[in-house]
Amino acid sequence: MAYLNENYLKLQSGYLFPEVGRRVREFCEANPKAAKRLIRCGIGDVTEPLPRAAVEAMKGAVDELGHHETFHGYGPEHGYEFLRSAIAQNDYRDRNVEVADDEIFISDGSKCDCGYVLDILGDQNKVALPDPVYPVYVDTNVMAGHTGPSRKDGSYEGILYLACTAENNFVPDPPREHVDLVYLCFPNNPTGAVASRVQLSRWVDYVREHDALLLFDAAYEAYISEADIPHSIFEVPDARECAIELRSFSKNGGFTGVRCGFTVLPKSVLARTENGRRLPLHLLWQRRWSTKSNSVSYPVQRGAEALYSQEGRKQVRALIAHYMGNAKLLRDAVADAGLEAFGGVNAPYIWVKTSEGLTSWQMFDRMLRELNVVITPGAGFGAQGEGYFRISAFNSRANAEEVARRLRDLQ
Ligand SMILES: *Cc1c(COP(=O)(O)O)cnc(C)c1O
Repeated sequence: MAYLNENYLKLQSGYLFPEVGRRVREFCEANPKAAKRLIRCGIGDVTEPLPRAAVEAMKGAVDELGHHETFHGYGPEHGYEFLRSAIAQNDYRDRNVEVADDEIFISDGSKCDCGYVLDILGDQNKVALPDPVYPVYVDTNVMAGHTGPSRKDGSYEGILYLACTAENNFVPDPPREHVDLVYLCFPNNPTGAVASRVQLSRWVDYVREHDALLLFDAAYEAYISEADIPHSIFEVPDARECAIELRSFSKNGGFTGVRCGFTVLPKSVLARTENGRRLPLHLLWQRRWSTKSNSVSYPVQRGAEALYSQEGRKQVRALIAHYMGNAKLLRDAVADAGLEAFGGVNAPYIWVKTSEGLTSWQMFDRMLRELNVVITPGAGFGAQGEGYFRISAFNSRANAEEVARRLRDLQ
């Protein structure tokens, strides 16, 4: 009999969203009338249709595949040049950030990239993760055997957790001790927090001092509304020496179902071998993609490219304005309900303190029962998420308005 990867057995069984789903299902079965008014502000999935520009580009690309003259088979393993250069030019060089076309690697999304990137990193790395956190960073490290067993509160031995609390505005300072690999995500899911240039510079300094590597998730970059908040880690001097950036078309172009994202891995980022050689990770990442992948489908890459056209940009801006309009409604309503709210200004998430010292799952049940609104309990994102819940602004305007009305009735 073959052996299995026992690291999978360390994973916490009650993963957040299945547990949310189970409680909602049970509630709906027991309360069919309430079930009809149910509004979901839970899972971070977009709700609005794709930008027209992307739809037209994908249709056109499918047609190309249907004709001899314009047929495409396998594409380049790192992504088509047309998309890599559109990204490097528009997202980076036009903003005075130096990134070469061949430092962009097209993928089927950031979630996948979080797992893939561990392929090229050693198992001996000491890992630091924010708490609360996007669960994918944690679980991919567990699966790769980078942690010990889990504790009662859901945390894992062997990981350094960086507490994100109201006291530090949900932006942790670098730790005193040494780590090799740090994950940061700004604008943040779930807290909606952003990091200033100074805060990010402190992290880059730490990572450089410790000869470490920073994995920077900028999936929500397009939601930044305040001036002078960095959109990319590479806006910070020296980040090109020590950071990998993850980006996605899921939250700006609404590509959660289309699947396309990318990593930026500068050729200047080095990592070491056990015997002290220092080598560019770029070489390994290139090799990883050419060996394990044939990239993302041609129509999808044409769709992503279209998000950078004049029309595409306008449509993306409209999508974001829509969700951020919801965020404002929800944030104001939460405040009117007398709850303390964070986020919702540079991110489509509002991070709310539970009322009267309820646990986040108690608050989840209360919102479900009294308002028939599904939120996400903060404890599902880590121990520090206890006492908070997340409201997502990914919804129709009508739903956001209705949730705002119901929130004001919360007594
Ligand atoms: C939604 C999200 C992503 C994007 O995931 P995809 O796999 O590209 O859809 C990445 N990071 C965070 C924190 C997210 O919330």
